[in-house]
Amino acid sequence: MPLPDALAALHRDLGIPASYGAERGLPLHPEARESELELIAHGDEGRPILLVAAAARAWRQMAAAAAAEGVTLVAVSGFRSVTRQAELIRVRLDRGRTLDAILRYVAAPGFSEHHTGRALDIADRPDSELEESFGSTAAYRWLDRNAPRHGFHLSYPRDNPHGIGYEPWHWCWRAAPDSRWPSTQPDSGRWPSNQP
Ligand SMILES: [Zn+2]
Repeated sequence: MPLPDALAALHRDLGIPASYGAERGLPLHPEARESELELIAHGDEGRPILLVAAAARAWRQMAAAAAAEGVTLVAVSGFRSVTRQAELIRVRLDRGRTLDAILRYVAAPGFSEHHTGRALDIADRPDSELEESFGSTAAYRWLDRNAPRHGFHLSYPRDNPHGIGYEPWHWCWRAAPDSRWPSTQPDSGRWPSNQP
């Protein structure tokens, strides 16, 4: 499927090869609509952390279930726009990192599950960095056993086929297995029209 024009232009601007999605076997993820998003927490500097309503509900239930077993789960990052995703890449390019290294942990704009408002980065304390070491915490062990019951699934396990590094913190909510998610309907979201 060809990229929408605005997204293709953004990719060219960042130097992302046109073959990115096909090569990595990553689907496009349309942005959730603002009206679908709900505040679940505040992150750094009061930054709002948003998820679509159904995922927000599942998150609250999951965090409460973990807390009842003495395990703290902290939401660190949720919905992210295509524009914000591009900024994350630009900032890293400006710091002198190579595009290859950046794309190992930051998906190209349009391809991040965070656009959908269903993906959540989870830590065990508010100030924690998202690092592989999260995979050896009690919080991760709890998620590994219990998150699927709440509809959250680890997207990027070790040695995943997408060329994305191991991300024990990144969980994506899906409705029941027979639901239509991930949706391939082009009208299930919107693309920003103000891309350069
Ligand atoms: Zn993530």
